Amino acid sequence: MSSQRVLLRQGAVITMDDDLGDFATADVLVEDGVVADVAPDLGDVDAEIIDARGMIVMPGLVDTHRHTWQAALRGIAADWTLGQYMTGLHLGLSALFRPEDTYAGNLLGAVEALDSGITTMLDWSHNVNTPEHSDAAVQGLFESGLRAVFAHGGGADMYQVPSTVPHDDDVRRVRDRYFSSNDQLCTMAMALRGPQFATLDVTESDLRRARELGLPVTLHVGDGEWGRSRPVTRMKERGLLGPDITYVHCNTLADDELQDIADSGGSVSIAPDIEMQMGHGWPATGRLMGVGVRPSLSIDTCVSNSGHMFGTMQMCLATQRAIDNEQPGASDRPAVTLGSRDVLSFATLDGARACGLDRKVGSLSRGKQADIVLLRADTLSLAPLNNPIGQVVYAAHPGLVDTVLVAGRVVKSGGKLHGDIAERALRLAEESRDSLFDRTRHHDNLTDARAGGTWQPAPLVTTEL
Ligand SMILES: [Zn+2]
Repeated sequence: MSSQRVLLRQGAVITMDDDLGDFATADVLVEDGVVADVAPDLGDVDAEIIDARGMIVMPGLVDTHRHTWQAALRGIAADWTLGQYMTGLHLGLSALFRPEDTYAGNLLGAVEALDSGITTMLDWSHNVNTPEHSDAAVQGLFESGLRAVFAHGGGADMYQVPSTVPHDDDVRRVRDRYFSSNDQLCTMAMALRGPQFATLDVTESDLRRARELGLPVTLHVGDGEWGRSRPVTRMKERGLLGPDITYVHCNTLADDELQDIADSGGSVSIAPDIEMQMGHGWPATGRLMGVGVRPSLSIDTCVSNSGHMFGTMQMCLATQRAIDNEQPGASDRPAVTLGSRDVLSFATLDGARACGLDRKVGSLSRGKQADIVLLRADTLSLAPLNNPIGQVVYAAHPGLVDTVLVAGRVVKSGGKLHGDIAERALRLAEESRDSLFDRTRHHDNLTDARAGGTWQPAPLVTTEL
């Protein structure tokens, strides 16, 4: 069988591979879905040629935590507190989701991510109330063409706080049916409630289940006031910490808990945009770096913030700079503490590491899967290109994403996703949104629910947790 080759010709290449470095202009050769070579000029190659002149060529972005099922409800929580999000959505509208709503949300969220240059996304799926909901969530991811990690998070009946209900046993069926191999585009994890939502006994049994099934774990800790209950310390006392856990948020964890995460080899996902606006606390970026943990970045939920990684990178860098600049003597510092290259690494290589995929993706290293994004740099917003990484982090936006490859397959070119998947995702999401709000009329605690930005749910009182 002859190999399939694609040559990305003469772009400004950011590899995120320390050994390869970056190139003002270079060729990137993709062969049978993997990066075969990166060099200033590969000469004449028998390959499909993609003209990358005027473009930045970089690794696909990695989002390590997104509640994708909520995508069709985007915007409704723009002016909600975390407590209102809990009652209005997470423990509210969630109950109305049919499998087709989960499918529509996951398809829209995954396609939106892909369109904006996110080629790997961990779907933190915590509203799969029935096996059919899980099937629908997985189907949405599979059809999108995205590289995804489906993190099975169970359904609403697991989220009564503090829960004494073990994780839904359907997780085993989902793994056996869809994820029998780790060597496929979509893989699986378990999204656990952890000690803030469930008892420590349940947390322990859930973790044992995940480890028995061979699935990595992602869980929320340290988000807002209820994160001050020393969740990591309590897990440590039971001997539960490990390198297979990604800790999401971490804002209000104590310094020694961050150290415990570092010592146990765990990874972290921060969502600076959501954390700032919903009241989780200051992003823990600098404190994590201080104990040797390089965080990954996540979108979290599109019901209040945007779904693209450019905004998240900007927020990450700006908030840490603000925190640093408040320190005594800051004005005399010789240099910043957090650079744009660090932040782009959080959004690529460190994200891949948090997903357990760093041997496959996260950089344009020879032999890795060809998950590649081309950004238009010959534009009013990016040209002239004086500092490619700084400009990607601080000035780029989804409208510049010209071409996207996943495992060497071109899924977007000329600024447009291939096929009719975008149109289908949008149509299904609108139908789902209309149906969801229509059905709130039959639920006493959701009678005020409506789109338009004026619905203000009664908040959950966090001191009760
Ligand atoms: Zn979350």
